[in-house]
Amino acid sequence: MDARIPEYLQRTLLEHYGEEKAAGIEEGYRQNRAVTLRVNTLVSDREQVCRQLDGAGIAWESVSWYRDALILPDSREADVQALPVYSQGQVYLQNLSAMLPPLYMDVQRGESVLDMAAAPGGKTTQMAALSGGMAQITACERDKIRAERLRYNLKSQHVGCATVLEKDARSLDDFFRFDRILLDAPCTGSGTLDLTEHAAPRRMEEGWVQKMVKTQKAMMDKAVRLLKKGGTLVYSTCSILPAENEEVVDFALKKGLELVSVQADESVPQLPTSMPGTICVCPSALYEGFFVAKLHRPA
Ligand code: SAM
Repeated sequence: MDARIPEYLQRTLLEHYGEEKAAGIEEGYRQNRAVTLRVNTLVSDREQVCRQLDGAGIAWESVSWYRDALILPDSREADVQALPVYSQGQVYLQNLSAMLPPLYMDVQRGESVLDMAAAPGGKTTQMAALSGGMAQITACERDKIRAERLRYNLKSQHVGCATVLEKDARSLDDFFRFDRILLDAPCTGSGTLDLTEHAAPRRMEEGWVQKMVKTQKAMMDKAVRLLKKGGTLVYSTCSILPAENEEVVDFALKKGLELVSVQADESVPQLPTSMPGTICVCPSALYEGFFVAKLHRPA
């Protein structure tokens, strides 16, 4: 029998998005999401990776908004994991939605970057690659086991410009200052609910959502203090609940940050957001449900 959406989530989705959109979201939860990957341009390029996929008989498709992303419509992750391109760190398995925040970070060579909630490191490694390995990235992670995984991934992705800080980001010293901060916040994961056959049921109660929002605001509060004047902050979650998204961005605006409008390519399925210039990706066969906002600290 098919898994069901937790009652609280269903009610909240209906309330915020209405019947038609909530049905579309549920449809997205029921899709077997296609495998997608990102080419690690620190050590490889698209041509090399595509050649190896062709050689292994693995079909691939391009992504219109990102040259380094590939969709493997007929493969499983294990098929990629068995290839030399994977063991050599030439690719990183990553959902397309999760590739958006590093693109909006627009990291420049020589800049100081804080990745506040970094493990397992998908976005840290992407920012490292986008800067050509020339940014100075501090990758903060509170959980010891996840920090180990982060170190492992940085090494296997040949990232030499990132340092792991095993710490609760909320207790980072206010003395630090960064040009750019990514707050890819811990969240309920309401955008990534899996309602395919045999998937394990997920919890989603109001009290838990509120606890997440409290953590997200505390991390945002710290991010605002650590951001240089003129600096850029990208806030993202894999949740589609406005309490974890627009409400947290609104909190940052009240602390003096300004919203920088971002837009996703028209091929990205989107949900309406109450804050124009932010992006809420609708779960689908290719995309996890996701939220991204870009903020700026006035000079
Ligand atoms: N950015 C990661 C990536 O792209 O691979 C995914 C990050 S995941 C959404 C959130 C991470 O934040 C988890 O690894 C979690 O352990 C960590 N975390 C939760 N609370 C934290 C805190 N207070 N300080 C630092 N890290 C925290």
